[in-house]
Amino acid sequence: MDYIGRIFRPPSEARSLLLQVTVGCSHNRCAYCDMYRDKRFKVKPVERVMADIDEAARLGPAHDKLFLCDGDALILSTKRLLPILEAVGEKLPWIRRVGVYGDTRSVGNKSVAELKELADAGLGIVYHGFESGDDEVLKLIDKGGTRDECIETATKLREAGIDHSVMVLLGVGGERLSEQHATATASLLSSMDPAYAGALTTTIVPGTPLAEMGARGDFKLPGKFRMLEELRTIVAESEFTRCRFSSNHASNYLPLRSTLPDDKDEMLAVLDLVLARRDERILKPEHHRGL
Ligand code: SF4
Repeated sequence: MDYIGRIFRPPSEARSLLLQVTVGCSHNRCAYCDMYRDKRFKVKPVERVMADIDEAARLGPAHDKLFLCDGDALILSTKRLLPILEAVGEKLPWIRRVGVYGDTRSVGNKSVAELKELADAGLGIVYHGFESGDDEVLKLIDKGGTRDECIETATKLREAGIDHSVMVLLGVGGERLSEQHATATASLLSSMDPAYAGALTTTIVPGTPLAEMGARGDFKLPGKFRMLEELRTIVAESEFTRCRFSSNHASNYLPLRSTLPDDKDEMLAVLDLVLARRDERILKPEHHRGL
């Protein structure tokens, strides 16, 4: 398989076959992100991608899921994506679901009819880190999408029958916008009503615009317990039909996993206990955290 540079995938795709169809991220501007700063975005030649599919076919049914890399591979046009999905369906018939990272841009540039075509060809889930429900925070971090566009993204994916797994980022509004970030994120999650949601914790990575903002005094990461208060607000105020909600990403200080709304009371009780004690020994040590 041909992989260029560091490869990232969601934790739930750990056992998936990784097929790199683009290199880097077409946006590559989110203030906190350094995943693809060393890569210039490009689309991989279709012959190269098809050769990887042929190679995976020769290796046989080692995986039952496939993830399209890199950063926002759904940015590819439907015309480019469809033959890839069709080749996966034909040559790797044991693959039962294809996943990809997407966002307001990559879903926004496709009609529901196009998304349905992609779903029919095997696209089953889109992972979307929208990070915050607050437009001021989204602007601060140069996310490149708005709250309204996130709702439109969720609506289109639902209409197309594609699962939507979203990620939000605790602390990303800094101390100054912490409260409005948490409240607006809960209300946006309620409006989007995804099947899966994960809370990650902001880490200031050297060399990123967020680190530069911090050095200038324009951004201060909230304390660990303040970020857990944000998580509490999000859990308490969001209203889901049924959502697998987790905070078990490597970046988090307190890994939790639940189904909301069923487990809401239980999850709030754990958070309230941790917040009442304010004992750092309960939290994941800094050296065990990852990005
Ligand atoms: S967070 Fe996602 S969209 Fe933003 S720069 Fe990183 S890979 Fe690209």
